[in-house]
Amino acid sequence: MNIQSFASFDEIKNDAVVEIYPPASAFQATLGNFSTTYDIRWLCAHCQRTEITQLTDLSITPRGGAPLQPVKNGPGEWIASASLHDLLTQNGVALRPLFKRLDYWSIVPQEFRFCEDIDPARWLDDTCPGCEKQSLVRTEMIAGVTHRAERPLTVTKEQIEGIIWGRSPQAFQRFHASSKPRNEPGGPAPCNAWVFGDGIQSRMNIMSVSLLKTLLDAGVHDLAFRPVNVI
Ligand SMILES: [Zn+2]
Repeated sequence: MNIQSFASFDEIKNDAVVEIYPPASAFQATLGNFSTTYDIRWLCAHCQRTEITQLTDLSITPRGGAPLQPVKNGPGEWIASASLHDLLTQNGVALRPLFKRLDYWSIVPQEFRFCEDIDPARWLDDTCPGCEKQSLVRTEMIAGVTHRAERPLTVTKEQIEGIIWGRSPQAFQRFHASSKPRNEPGGPAPCNAWVFGDGIQSRMNIMSVSLLKTLLDAGVHDLAFRPVNVI
């Protein structure tokens, strides 16, 4: 089993990007308006794959005062304190206001895609008869027990070109595929169709190593990161 835990900065300092995620001990902000802030549409008639679009400002309650916080019940959302506003925007990170808050901002990531065919592992026994896709998971079943494998993401050089702070539209979802059609592709899906499933976040965030260094130099240490395979 290939377990990737936290990396030290020395281990990744010559890389282009790292994946960022919250340390296990971190307080995480909470999202209060999931059902009204996102438009969620079915992508497939047979399984739970959905596309999610943000419509309105996020209504967020920060926790614990960390300047960068993941949003625990948001699909890969992060917020940044107002004290980081200038540093982030000067380094190319787009920010969006939060609903009725001036002390934190919402990060607006650039889009990147990871290589689904290489990593992470997929379950091989649940190919959807509609879209022929399988659940994307980061865990492995060993002797009937699920282990969090924390596989590193694999990306291509092209996918991360120019990325300062990126997020994948692909989500980690363990879906259940039905043999009969049950959804209308393109039609609205209920907010509980969004499966947080595996992993700490269901849409992955990456950051350029140069931005990470800038944040560390500025005293922001509430981040954990792991290497990303670039091919
Ligand atoms: Zn499907």
